[in-house]
Amino acid sequence: MKYLPVIGLEIHVELKTQSGMFCHCKINQWQAKPNEHVCPICLGLPGALPVPNKKAIEWIIKIGKALNCHINKNSKFDRKHYSYPDLPKGYQISQYDEPIAVNGFILIKTKSGDKKFRIHRVHLEEDTGKLIHVGEDTLVDFNRSGTPLVEIVTEADFDSSEDVKVFLEELHTIIRYLDVSDADMDKGSMRMEPNISLRVQSLKSKVESLKKEEIELPNYKVEVKNINSFRFVKQAIDYEIVRQQELLDRGETPKQETRGFDEKKVETYSQRSKEEAHDYRYFPEPDIPPLEFSDSYIASIVVPELPTQKMKKFIEIGIKEQDAFILSREIEIAVYFEDIIKKISAILNKDQLLNSPQFVANLLINKKLSISLSKDEFVKKAHDLMIPKETDSLLLESVIGRILNTNKGVVEQYKSGKTNAVMFLVGLVMKEMKGKADAKVVIEELKKRISVTN
Ligand code: ZN
Ligand code: MN
Repeated sequence: MKYLPVIGLEIHVELKTQSGMFCHCKINQWQAKPNEHVCPICLGLPGALPVPNKKAIEWIIKIGKALNCHINKNSKFDRKHYSYPDLPKGYQISQYDEPIAVNGFILIKTKSGDKKFRIHRVHLEEDTGKLIHVGEDTLVDFNRSGTPLVEIVTEADFDSSEDVKVFLEELHTIIRYLDVSDADMDKGSMRMEPNISLRVQSLKSKVESLKKEEIELPNYKVEVKNINSFRFVKQAIDYEIVRQQELLDRGETPKQETRGFDEKKVETYSQRSKEEAHDYRYFPEPDIPPLEFSDSYIASIVVPELPTQKMKKFIEIGIKEQDAFILSREIEIAVYFEDIIKKISAILNKDQLLNSPQFVANLLINKKLSISLSKDEFVKKAHDLMIPKETDSLLLESVIGRILNTNKGVVEQYKSGKTNAVMFLVGLVMKEMKGKADAKVVIEELKKRISVTN
């Protein structure tokens, strides 16, 4: 390709606090009737005064730390003005020039090695209401209005939709680990907006010798709004790359604009162009005093071990990389797995210990045992499966003799090359042995006996 994609991301995440960003309304009430959970503050009635949610502030700092950001000790809220029916005040309380967290990064494994993607800023704002279109009418539901919303903005560090997808999956996993949001895309509690432009590839050789921050960005940018699945983000980016490439090939510059994504047609469409671009007339929110965080407060907000750290630990105890990845995707599974390993290690001897982590990993991944079991039950069952059974060899000899006599046809099949037939015999023998045999020993004995009979 002659062009190199330059992609940045904006991600909105709704926090799962008990109450709103600036009021006491219950939030994330998916079952509620429209406008059931509203008050003068989130409806923006005259004279209502917002009070910031302490938990939301704590949680955004947690997110900032998990994304390796610098936490600004001084921060403030600002009014971002625009006129839209889902925004009752005519402005959104957001953060402009003093966001809570800045300059972070996420390190991720991609197909072409480890990559670092920088986070530009992470700020706190309030969500808007929801518009519902019914026939000719547009209805407004303000239940969502005032939900604490974290906006994460990356640098334009991506050059492929594949990397974007891996990044978003990792970010989603981290947010879920922090237990600050459901990040449920079907419910809209995580929404993604990629911005895409293309740079002429002939510059690439020069570009590679430059640091990322020194690269000059293309002179236009196309933003695709409000996508709610990783797959759709990837499709929207891929579509844009082709569309913009065709324009550039014709000697045109793609219009700087905001586009939507049509999931059914798998294409983007123009929403508004730069000519109508908003001037938000930001100014400091006069009803909320500036925020000031002490070092000890910032230090007191603890980030749990994150998925990459868990994965690394699992690999260190002998888990295959692929399996370590799977086991580290959900914090419940990761912690459960760790606890099982601890518990089972206490009852195993040295030789058994060596392979036990991968053995337990297999049980979980193949769903032979599940995390719905109590940990003690899991350990007992895993232990039973792990330790080979004592085989009653006298009994085994007579049982095998009998089974081979009564199943001569199967024995013939086996001898004629259908080696799988032996498993049928193993099943019969195991049944007769009523648990007093180790399956491995049974297979060996059966094969031995068949090979000496004619
Ligand atoms: Zn309210
Ligand atoms: Mn925003």
